[in-house]
Amino acid sequence: MIKTAPITGRFAPTPSSRLHLGNLMCAMVAWLSVRQKGGRFLLRVEDLDAARCKDMGENTRWLLDDLAWLGIDHDGEVLYQSCRDEIYCHYFECLEKQGLLYPCYCSRAELHAATAPHLSDGAPLYDRRCLLRAERGEMPPAGKRPAWRVRVPDEQVFFEDAVAGRYEENLLRDCSDFVVRRSDGVFAYQLAVVVDDALSGVSEVVRGNDLLSSTPRQIYLQRMLGFTAPRYCHIPLLVDAEGRRLSKRDGDGCMSEVRARYRDAAPVIGALAAALGIIEKSEPITLRELLSLFDMTRLPRDTVRLPVGF
Ligand code: GLU
Repeated sequence: MIKTAPITGRFAPTPSSRLHLGNLMCAMVAWLSVRQKGGRFLLRVEDLDAARCKDMGENTRWLLDDLAWLGIDHDGEVLYQSCRDEIYCHYFECLEKQGLLYPCYCSRAELHAATAPHLSDGAPLYDRRCLLRAERGEMPPAGKRPAWRVRVPDEQVFFEDAVAGRYEENLLRDCSDFVVRRSDGVFAYQLAVVVDDALSGVSEVVRGNDLLSSTPRQIYLQRMLGFTAPRYCHIPLLVDAEGRRLSKRDGDGCMSEVRARYRDAAPVIGALAAALGIIEKSEPITLRELLSLFDMTRLPRDTVRLPVGF
């Protein structure tokens, strides 16, 4: 009999604010998919910016509390990205040794003033000006610390997303050379996420659709670092019953508001499960009860609406 390796999934929130219902929906789907198959579920706190973002400690405490409230348990220790600089450094050097990195001295203002087209996330497509300057032998500006960019080839990268379907992008023309280490020395999300998922043996990544366009960059880094790509499941954005985006600023769907309204998690889980089409109508239910009903292949591809009155 062929023994298949057990699946490993994860939830990897950035504690820049308190969790909101959209994050929770991702955590729930990731947990259901893994637990249904008897796999391992990991929790990683993406607090790379902990030194700059003072609320991260407090938000992390709430994050653990909110997940426990919902009944989302995890295996092993929580992984904190803020403690893993040496590991990221090793893989940064692996890229450097392959001649793939170059320093970039452009300021944010310079980048945004460029006439180059902008990407779907609003960031400008990098025109490689620092690479061209270095190739012309120009001296870098004195006393300025650079960010580090990885060179990408003019190549189409595609993958089959378990929820969103086939997605493809040309690395050079659709995203261009991207930052793997910021000028303040902090490693970028794209590098850290690839390294952590690979070293933790993550085989399934469930996350929001807003990260779909980051995936080709991550697949490229996996290839250059000799890692295997996990299965990707990008789930749609959560909107309110009227189809409006839940706005973090107004506190819509923020867990502090949700927990002030509901003592018990069952109605919240029920509302999210109904929004995802796992159950027909919104009614209190536990995560364990959802295990036998969940089917990743039947999740909606487009936006997910909260039930009326929730
Ligand atoms: N930390 C990211 C976020 O909270 C998610 C990263 C990932 O799942 O790859 O948006």
